[in-house]
Amino acid sequence: MGRELTQVAPGVWTATAEIWTSLTTLVVADDGACLVVDPGITVAEVECLADEIRDRGWHVEAAFATHAHWDHVLWSARLGDVPRWATPAAAAAQQRSRDADLAKADAAAPGHDRELFGRITALPDDAVAVPWSGPRALVVGHHAHAPGHAALVLPDSGVLVAGDMLSDIEIPLLDVDAADPVGDYRDGLHRLEAAVTQHAITAVVPGTVMSAARASWPGGSWSTGCTSAPSSRASTRRTLAWPIRGSARRTRSSSERSPRTDGPAVAAGLRSFHGTCREPAVRRLR
Ligand SMILES: [Zn+2]
Repeated sequence: MGRELTQVAPGVWTATAEIWTSLTTLVVADDGACLVVDPGITVAEVECLADEIRDRGWHVEAAFATHAHWDHVLWSARLGDVPRWATPAAAAAQQRSRDADLAKADAAAPGHDRELFGRITALPDDAVAVPWSGPRALVVGHHAHAPGHAALVLPDSGVLVAGDMLSDIEIPLLDVDAADPVGDYRDGLHRLEAAVTQHAITAVVPGTVMSAARASWPGGSWSTGCTSAPSSRASTRRTLAWPIRGSARRTRSSSERSPRTDGPAVAAGLRSFHGTCREPAVRRLR
């Protein structure tokens, strides 16, 4: 039984978790090697992701955790014994919070292999990209949301994998244990904005997506879990990402556009999000 994937750009696929509609990203090289980013939350969906990769003739070469929160450091033996990278600060944070994070995982997504939980490896301090043989995955590190949080820039496909920094259903979630949570968040957004400009990014994979938007997406709805029906995969042409400007890379046709995901609307939304992030942050801190 495999997991439903949506192609968002050449060589880039996403899957949606049942909990919080969090997104997993797969970067797939021409030879089928996969970089798995944030593999999912429940045992079933992580295992189904592994089955889907195998069924497509792909193989997992490496993984990347955008940050060390418990729902981003889960794993299944079916995905293989491969390097699971994160920034040095994220790896250190995971060590500090491992016991508490395991308890959260046991409560919300029970049944995971505790030995595999959180087995992430720190990138070298000078690393600018995830070490693997596939398309470049540049690391944009910062300290917003969680210590050592990092987005990935995929310059060959024009995609920014934002991790938990961006969402259309969550207010900005700050690292309230940091000395300057709001400043960190602003800095993180600036870095994402700079990366979007520098690398001509055309689509953003957010950390979570609005389930209502998915249900009403043109062309029908789709499940978030596992499927054994190949036809449901074949019919999935929707882009589970935010295209941020018109581009030949866009995989949806113009007839499939919706206002919430059209380029100018999303660009305006990002500017608004950027400009107002302080307000919800302040409210949360009070
Ligand atoms: Zn998080």
